Amino acid sequence: MASQDAVDPRSEFVFDTHALGRRVGAMAEHRRQAHTTVDFGTEVIGVPQGSPVDLELRLEEVGEGVLVTGTATAQLRGVCGRCLTEIGEEIVIDVQELFVHPGHGDEDDESTSRLVNELLDLEPLLRDQVVLDLPFQPVCREDCEGLCAECGANLNDDPDHGHDAPIDSRWAGLAGLMDLNSPNESEQREN
Ligand SMILES: [Zn+2]
Ligand SMILES: [Zn+2]
Repeated sequence: MASQDAVDPRSEFVFDTHALGRRVGAMAEHRRQAHTTVDFGTEVIGVPQGSPVDLELRLEEVGEGVLVTGTATAQLRGVCGRCLTEIGEEIVIDVQELFVHPGHGDEDDESTSRLVNELLDLEPLLRDQVVLDLPFQPVCREDCEGLCAECGANLNDDPDHGHDAPIDSRWAGLAGLMDLNSPNESEQREN
């Protein structure tokens, strides 16, 4: 039950190769924006479901199948593993894949991309490639300083950040006193 058994002709990632007429050397160029129907990646980083993907592709009949070459460009979204800042960067995937006609290639090889009713579906292929390219531990930049372990301040914004350890608890005490006093003050002003 491979996903290639069912190709939805309405999917934005599906291309119809019928016009190539199985003539070796016949070519078609496509530029299209498609939107991911699933997440490409993880919750930490990836191309979220519904994201636009700009496809610039050339389809060429090579006899055994249709060779697809070109690029897919999308926006990677994620969170820095050190400072939790949002990351957004462009990812460009090089596409070079042969989709074989029925009866060609190794029928038992699950990794072979296949044409189904002369349609080819790029989405599973692109998702696999995005996932392979994802950084294991995404960071906003290589030298990200992360967060202060005591107060959570972003150390990239405040490189000289530091604490005199006992100050925190004394401030907490003062803050409590001020909370108690403030309602009385407002009552006095009203009178
Ligand atoms: Zn960071
Ligand atoms: Zn701090």
